[in-house]
Amino acid sequence: MTLETLLAAKTMIVGVWFVVFFIAERVSRAAAPPKSTARMLRNGGMWLLVLIASPLIVVPLTEWGANHLIWTRPDSMNSGAAGTAALLVTLILLDLWTYWLHRAYHRIPAMWRLHEVHHRDEFLDTTSAVRFHFGEVVLSASLRLIPIALLATPLSTVIIFEALVLCAAIFHHSNLRIPPVFEGLLSRLIVTPSIHWVHHHAVKADTDSNYATIFSLWDPLFRSRSLTMRAPDMKIGVEGVEDKGFFRLMLMPFRKADI
Ligand SMILES: [Zn+2]
Repeated sequence: MTLETLLAAKTMIVGVWFVVFFIAERVSRAAAPPKSTARMLRNGGMWLLVLIASPLIVVPLTEWGANHLIWTRPDSMNSGAAGTAALLVTLILLDLWTYWLHRAYHRIPAMWRLHEVHHRDEFLDTTSAVRFHFGEVVLSASLRLIPIALLATPLSTVIIFEALVLCAAIFHHSNLRIPPVFEGLLSRLIVTPSIHWVHHHAVKADTDSNYATIFSLWDPLFRSRSLTMRAPDMKIGVEGVEDKGFFRLMLMPFRKADI
């Protein structure tokens, strides 16, 4: 499969997934959403910038990385049962990398200033999943060149991983009401809204917990799972501060003072 075909498949799958969850969370909602057109425009504006940065920076950068590996996988690892196993192990290790990268975004002040733009959202739904400062998206793609090189990751695997991350993020940010028993079972394997909404609780101890993206095992394993239970009326955002307008959010990471 060519790079263009893979990217087109990724765009189509993620696009359909987004539309399905965007509609579903309006038909069956877990929490009452705010009536804020400004918020939707803000989140949509950030998505637009990421969509522009993706073909201009992220795709060429990732392509370059996949062509500059520090070792080459033997042919036996690229097909059959061994190929499937290699794909699964690589996806799990890339998810582990994403877990620690997310912890770094919360721990290192310069990285937090980028990631805080995502956390300033005062409600969560599918649009929160695409609300990222483009600087964070570019930085994450640059740092991901490290595991790509170390694992000799094929470009196709990175694109599959990106599609999975986006679908996981749309799901775990969504405001979709899910039967608790089903969500309880699902949360043992993957990150569900009940886990990730606590990460967006406007209480610092909860914000600095529940970092996992796809698989839910990393937080219990590395002792970062919050004991707080998700409540429909829990305050979402960053403790002690409010959301801002689009342009102030875009400039926020580059200014020391909180303006
Ligand atoms: Zn976070």
